[in-house]
Amino acid sequence: MARSSTTRRLIAASSAALALCLGVTGCSRTINGTPTTNSSTSADTVAGLPASDGPSGLKPAAQDADLPVEGGTSGKTDTLATNAVADVQQYWRSAYPETFGDGKFRPIERLVSYDSTSGGRRVCGQDTAGLANAFYCPAEDTIAWDRGELLPGLRNTFGAMAPVTVLAHEFGHAVQHRAGLVDERTPTLVSEQQADCFTGAFFRHAAEGSAEHIRVSTGSGLNKVLGVLGYIRDEPGRTGFSDARAHGSAFDRVSAFQYGFSDGPKRCAEMTEESVTERTTQFRFWKQAQETDLPVDEQSIAQVERSLREVFGDTGVVPPELTTEQRPCHDEKSTEPASYCATSNTISLNLSALRDIAAPPDSGDRGTGYGDFAAYAQLASRYALAVQEAAGLEVTGDAAGLRTACLVGAWSGLIVEDPIGRRNPVGRLRIAPGDLDEGIASLLSDDGLIAADARGEQVPAGFARVEAFRIGFQQGMTPCSSEYDA
Ligand SMILES: [Zn+2]
Repeated sequence: MARSSTTRRLIAASSAALALCLGVTGCSRTINGTPTTNSSTSADTVAGLPASDGPSGLKPAAQDADLPVEGGTSGKTDTLATNAVADVQQYWRSAYPETFGDGKFRPIERLVSYDSTSGGRRVCGQDTAGLANAFYCPAEDTIAWDRGELLPGLRNTFGAMAPVTVLAHEFGHAVQHRAGLVDERTPTLVSEQQADCFTGAFFRHAAEGSAEHIRVSTGSGLNKVLGVLGYIRDEPGRTGFSDARAHGSAFDRVSAFQYGFSDGPKRCAEMTEESVTERTTQFRFWKQAQETDLPVDEQSIAQVERSLREVFGDTGVVPPELTTEQRPCHDEKSTEPASYCATSNTISLNLSALRDIAAPPDSGDRGTGYGDFAAYAQLASRYALAVQEAAGLEVTGDAAGLRTACLVGAWSGLIVEDPIGRRNPVGRLRIAPGDLDEGIASLLSDDGLIAADARGEQVPAGFARVEAFRIGFQQGMTPCSSEYDA
């Protein structure tokens, strides 16, 4: 997060202020040109499927797939990988002709398992020694994975769904090539977005229980899948992991996955360079250098408070009082690191808890931080409750949690750094793409408030939390009250 210091932005901010309107439902501060999914959202469903925290992983009763894998072993990693590839391939056998109206799906020519920590094998002209990757090689129609380091490492960090996600993504690249959707001139971002979208389409099939070996719950299971997307850094034909930006931010990647999950593979096939660049325009122009961290102190809190007042000023909200004192709120349970009390219209902040969240994720110290935006988004979420209270909406329950995520997304969308001037940002506080990714990480965590009601109860499915945030980010405040009125 950073403060803007250019006069151009101040001028832009004052012209935005002319477009004020009253009431959270009447607000028409929308952002043009940003498509969203067709699905309607609610707290107890995930794109129309029941939200559940059931088991995810290999189905215990399923027979292992009988697919030839060069170099494959009978170990845990290869067993999971082979079963996953078999399920993804089975999915495309029916989805491919339905999507492309084009005959039969040709199975992958060659599957290769290798161990990057031991002797090299040649795949696609590359020596696999030290190649901690998984990739699709178009020239040899081959999907290869590293069973030595990459897949077990991801599995240890994110669970069994992580290798499945990686392989479904690589299969997405194979589908692109079969359907002629990409060639060597296609920008990496576009082919990556489409592969993530195809990944989402497969996971819907698995979440519906239709895959033979793999099952995934729409709650905790998909949370893990969404969490791992930002870590996939294949680059077909090149060695190792490469520039994260070329693959899109975590926010872009989760969005693409959700399009495929909600709308199916046709939606992915329709992705073009034009539509992807339009949706992700803001991100392409951002530079890492624009990111600075706001400390957690009184001065920064005052800046964030000003930004919230500016963005939500036209909703009819009576700005809540912010305090660092812990004040009791009748019988209401307080929440950390910020607590909203409707009766006194107060937000109490716990600075030390906010600082823990604001710590960079790689600081090692506590290892629990998400970054400055994640911390201030917790505060914004409590402010969003005051906005709902003023509009006569419930501040407890799952619908309140989703509205909260949507309103925090709307705030984010109105303060986002936008060098090409499509968004007309409000006020002087600015966020950058890394900030949005902090928000996504916090949304997918077990203890965040961005998608939580006044009691701190989070909406159960991370998928629904992120989707609500994204809808607010892309479309502004209007859908926050109209979509989530349950
Ligand atoms: Zn890829």
